[in-house]
Amino acid sequence: MTSNRRTFAIISHPDAGKTTLTEKLLLQGGAIHLAGEVKARGQARRARSDWMKIEQQRGISVTSSVMTFQKDGIVFNLLDTPGHEDFSEDTYRTLTAVDSAVMVIDAAKGIEPQTRKLFEVCRLRSVPIITFVNKVDREGRDPFETLDEVADMLALDVSPQMWPIGMGGEFEGLLDFATGTIGRPEGPSREYLGTRDTAAIPERFADEIELARGGYPEFDLEAFRHGDLTPVYFGSALKNFGVIELIDAISRYAPPPRPQPAGEEQISPDRDEVTGFIFKVQANMDPNHRDRIAFMRQVSGTFKRGMKLIPSGLGKPIAVHSPILFFAQDRELADTAEAGDIIGIPNHGTLRVGDTLSERNQVRFTGLPNFAPEILRRVQLRDPTKTKQLRKALDDLSEEGVIQVFYPDIGSAHIVGVVGQLQLEVLISRLEAEYKVEAVLEPSPFATARWIKGDEKTLEEFASFNRANLARDRDGDYVFMAKSPWDVSYQVEKNPQLTFSATKER
Ligand code: GDP
Repeated sequence: MTSNRRTFAIISHPDAGKTTLTEKLLLQGGAIHLAGEVKARGQARRARSDWMKIEQQRGISVTSSVMTFQKDGIVFNLLDTPGHEDFSEDTYRTLTAVDSAVMVIDAAKGIEPQTRKLFEVCRLRSVPIITFVNKVDREGRDPFETLDEVADMLALDVSPQMWPIGMGGEFEGLLDFATGTIGRPEGPSREYLGTRDTAAIPERFADEIELARGGYPEFDLEAFRHGDLTPVYFGSALKNFGVIELIDAISRYAPPPRPQPAGEEQISPDRDEVTGFIFKVQANMDPNHRDRIAFMRQVSGTFKRGMKLIPSGLGKPIAVHSPILFFAQDRELADTAEAGDIIGIPNHGTLRVGDTLSERNQVRFTGLPNFAPEILRRVQLRDPTKTKQLRKALDDLSEEGVIQVFYPDIGSAHIVGVVGQLQLEVLISRLEAEYKVEAVLEPSPFATARWIKGDEKTLEEFASFNRANLARDRDGDYVFMAKSPWDVSYQVEKNPQLTFSATKER
């Protein structure tokens, strides 16, 4: 059975136009959202559907975490990657839950740092990428330059599917290679209103177009699906150019739900059992409630409201009575979900990032890493009588994936690790707001951390020599706290019988 689901994310650097493009995609797809709403807040956005009621009751904003729209029989699940300059594990993890990604590039700026970082995460899992070069209605770089930059910097074959006829004030329209038609700016605001013609291309662009059509590899589905080639679309999210072509490309080329690794096995979407994994946990914004929403990426089966699922971390089934399903506009679909869909499961902290949920409890999904923190800080309490609360808070927040926590073997200070600075700010404000714990973060002597694995005897031996650099994570597993990257290489070389891992899979 071929699935009609396309589960994807948009990766981009801030300001490239992710929000604007998201709005246009939702609008084209006839989703419940209206353009302009993605960033909107408050009343206007409320009370639109069942799950928004849940939002209101629980004070959890899930609106923009998963956005679902449909077009021509295809159901698109767009997962939001937090759009901060700063990087968090949340972003990485969301990318473990998608089957493809749209990479939005500003036509004037090319590949920017965050685009690149996110791209590397996609590459780790061979996630196929569709490229959208945005803002062609403005003065931009030569499109050839942009294409070559993508090819060189990301080591990716590029295959343009469209071409901008001029840019900025010179912008005359967008040529679709497949149909040979041009969509032209219309009306006083020079938007794309939907008419395309096959009229001749202005003479001065003829050579350029010929070069663009002939100078790059042809689209190859196989290479795309392996993450080796990216089809490139041009457009303007603001003026609505190229958006329909992009949606068509996602439905035609982006893969339906892919099998997911579970140890040696690959779990196919056709498996006759609901399975899925938690890739994100979002806490209540109201500090008086401990409710959380765990986001499950469904891998197989047909989910029905009220179904019992067994979380791998718990062993006993939980009934999923009030799941958040993201089909508010479609009554019939609202009670079921398929492979590729995302289900929000309200819970009181029992579900953790990385957990598998399944009907028969025989599957454990792998490949959902914790990332080695790049910033490590020592947590100091202002009020030393709050030690217990602090420990509880750090355990909770690390379960949620906000931070990672390390308990050194020597000394009493707790160390928190993050991959982005912003996570530290979130930590401090949530400690205060939700746990009434005032804490400060101080520099720690450590620069990075590695999970250590090996047989017990070797581990104990290593531990006895390196107490000062040893900590346990929240699961009690050994972590080597390194003062520098050099420290890591030194220990790796010295201890060939141990593995030092920058990620940890649960
Ligand atoms: P995000 O940070 O990636 O979500 O970017 P936004 O969607 O918020 O866009 C950043 C800015 O670029 C806003 O001022 C948008 O209006 C503008 N913008 C987005 N897309 C386009 C486009 O296609 N053309 C032009 N001229 N401006 C755009």
